[in-house]
Amino acid sequence: MEPRDSGCIFCKIVAGDIPCAKVFESETCLAFLDIAPVNEGHVLVLPKGHYATLMDIPGDLGGDLVQTLSQVGRAVMEVTGADGLNLMQNNFEAAGQLVDHAHFHLIPRFSDDGLTLWAQAAYDDQDKMNRLAAEIAGLLK
Ligand code: AMP
Ligand code: ZN
Repeated sequence: MEPRDSGCIFCKIVAGDIPCAKVFESETCLAFLDIAPVNEGHVLVLPKGHYATLMDIPGDLGGDLVQTLSQVGRAVMEVTGADGLNLMQNNFEAAGQLVDHAHFHLIPRFSDDGLTLWAQAAYDDQDKMNRLAAEIAGLLK
């Protein structure tokens, strides 16, 4: 039995208690149009079970999620005539997560849409970059 959160808007959509513009549903995943799109055709893909963030999603759902993202992404690009596609995923408030049910944004992109989704900068200290890599790698051993 998948976890549910009775106060969660996406759990209510999964249950059919709140309507959505559904584009795909499988045993484990649901995809529907974002109500406030970055570009029209912006889709949200989520596991049906309530997992708060990416880090809470069980690994065995990974295959279904990636397959769904790939299939839905291809359909979004074809229908919107997009030149590109962004996959985005926000975890915790500091990263812009508004709905605490993990979900993935598929955003159709156009060569002339003028969007810059994030700014990047170079590391000013190569040692720090190496240290960070070593610390992260250390937790993954
Ligand atoms: P995030 O900021 O990553 O948590 O994204 C949450 C997204 O959910 C936002 O882009 C909202 O526009 C979208 N959203 C919230 N409520 C609904 C809804 N009822 N139907 C479709 N999209 C929604
Ligand atoms: Zn939920």
